[in-house]
Amino acid sequence: MPDEQGKAILGDRLRAVEDRLQAACQRSGRARADVTLTAVTKTTSAEIAAWLPDLGIFDLGENRPQELWHKAALLPTSVRWHMIGHLQRNKVEKTLPLVGLIHSVDSLRLLATLEEEAARQQRSLDVLLEVNASGEVSKHGFAPLELASVAPDIHKLQHVRVRGLMTMAAPTDDLERCRPTFRTLRQLRDQLQHELGAAHDLRHLSMGMSGDFEVAVEEGATLVRIGSALFEGLS
Ligand SMILES: *Cc1c(COP(=O)(O)O)cnc(C)c1O
Repeated sequence: MPDEQGKAILGDRLRAVEDRLQAACQRSGRARADVTLTAVTKTTSAEIAAWLPDLGIFDLGENRPQELWHKAALLPTSVRWHMIGHLQRNKVEKTLPLVGLIHSVDSLRLLATLEEEAARQQRSLDVLLEVNASGEVSKHGFAPLELASVAPDIHKLQHVRVRGLMTMAAPTDDLERCRPTFRTLRQLRDQLQHELGAAHDLRHLSMGMSGDFEVAVEEGATLVRIGSALFEGLS
């Protein structure tokens, strides 16, 4: 497929997603500016991902550290990279300088490693805690009950700022089945915010993918992670 044709397709898909985002915001009385579209580029090439900044999208997400490193080296530095998949601790050192936000902190051990490395690199780092809120999809993430005891660990952090929670809903044909998962994440966030007080601002809820982002926005998502709705067939 010639570049111009591919770019036109991607532009059309972005406009379609944008229309649906706006409609979901309107239905739920939210401001469009409060929801960031993160384009998940994991199935597409660096060449195609590089069209996104030209189309006004600067928030890009990858679920594998090596692929994030690869694309980050090729794309303009105006891109804000989101790490959305499992991050092994031996990949923290190299990943940290490249990312704007890590959505997928799934253990206290990883949180401690990130704090140590951020201190060593003398920088601050924004992260979200991944929660297994549906109880079924993911092998990664904090169990909801576990989350009730993490406040003391968060209070100790000096370089890492916890900015909210992330989850994935179980894939389903019946969208209403996602709603309880997203609602649970919001409630867990509110609870943890209450425990943490003003020291950490947990404003972000990263939830919603191509199949379910409208329900997620209705339930309070501030970051939606969209891959296939943009890149299916473009690679
Ligand atoms: C792949 C992926 C997405 C995007 O999923 P689509 O259904 O393709 O939109 C979102 N979040 C995570 C963690 C992913 O791995």
